[in-house]
Amino acid sequence: MMFKALVVEKNEDGKTNATVQELSMDRLPEGDVTVAVEYSTLNYKDGLCIGPGGGLVRNYPHVPGIDFAGTVEASDDPRYKAGDKVVLTGWRVGEAYWGGYAQKARVKADWLVPLPDGLTTRQAMAVGTAGFTAMLAVMALEDHGIKDGPVLVTGAAGGVGSVATAILANLGYEVAGVTGRPETAGYLRSLGATRVVAREEINETVKRPLEAEIWGGCVDAVGGDMLARVLGQMKYGASVAAVGLAGGAALSATVIPFLLRGVNLLGIDSVMQPYDNRLRAWARIAQDLPMDKLEAMIKPATLSDLPALGRDILKGQIQGRVVVDVNG
Ligand code: NDP
Repeated sequence: MMFKALVVEKNEDGKTNATVQELSMDRLPEGDVTVAVEYSTLNYKDGLCIGPGGGLVRNYPHVPGIDFAGTVEASDDPRYKAGDKVVLTGWRVGEAYWGGYAQKARVKADWLVPLPDGLTTRQAMAVGTAGFTAMLAVMALEDHGIKDGPVLVTGAAGGVGSVATAILANLGYEVAGVTGRPETAGYLRSLGATRVVAREEINETVKRPLEAEIWGGCVDAVGGDMLARVLGQMKYGASVAAVGLAGGAALSATVIPFLLRGVNLLGIDSVMQPYDNRLRAWARIAQDLPMDKLEAMIKPATLSDLPALGRDILKGQIQGRVVVDVNG
């Protein structure tokens, strides 16, 4: 039996190329559970793995796709049986292990969670790693207390930012979305943002370590200068959930916001989340993310669309969430 997959190969000149290929089942890696994948998604890391140089790929040939949802086809683990619907995010799947850009995947049972009640496999992947991470960020902010004042979401029109905006707005927070694309203002307002802030307004050279206190919390998908600037604008005791580095990894900030304003910088990692945390976050997603808003974020795609879309996500040009129908 054959299945379709997007395969990244490394040529003799060190360059990589990604093509849709037909593979036989015996090419699948070792694992306890074989899944008939239905949907995967495009995340920033996937853009790196499909792109030239292979980004985070650990071995070739490689099937990228850091998340997927589908139906168990065969299982050696008592927790799963054929016919169960499952979701996978994290655990370096799609980087060190073959991932979701295929009609079949074989993985460790520990990496899976059952499809959350109330979600279809397509909806679960519209959320995907980006949305799962957005929920983890919101939960971290809640654990530390969200202060009065708007909650800032940076990289708001991207995957993490879109889902964070919709969840926070649905929870009743006033949400300000930072975007470098003014044309996405209507989209961000439709997700529940009450304020759209131009990237340049925040992302200037940091002049002073402390500025006026504005934000009651922040989900930051951008890092770099944006994060440095936002730290000095947080309300006393407020928290920034640092999720990503779409705007750069270097952080040029002072310790002053931490010392004089008690600001918390919370690092969010979706990859190694223990099983119970993953279940808790997925249950919160099913409860707190309005499905009509999730639908508005979806850009449908097939495996053959991914090389071009991978380039777009690295340029910060994707709005919302790319949902990949691997059978499309
Ligand atoms: P997207 O590309 O969908 O969104 C990123 C957004 O950031 C863009 O849409 C753009 O938003 C903004 N942006 C891009 N480049 C710049 C720049 N140079 N300066 C300022 N803003 C910029 O990616 P995701 O939302 O999927 O991921 C965002 C980040 O989070 C990535 O770094 C990713 O690796 C990371 N991540 C981390 C996870 C974790 O476990 N910690 C899990 C998932 C993602 P706009 O146009 O609105 O300005």
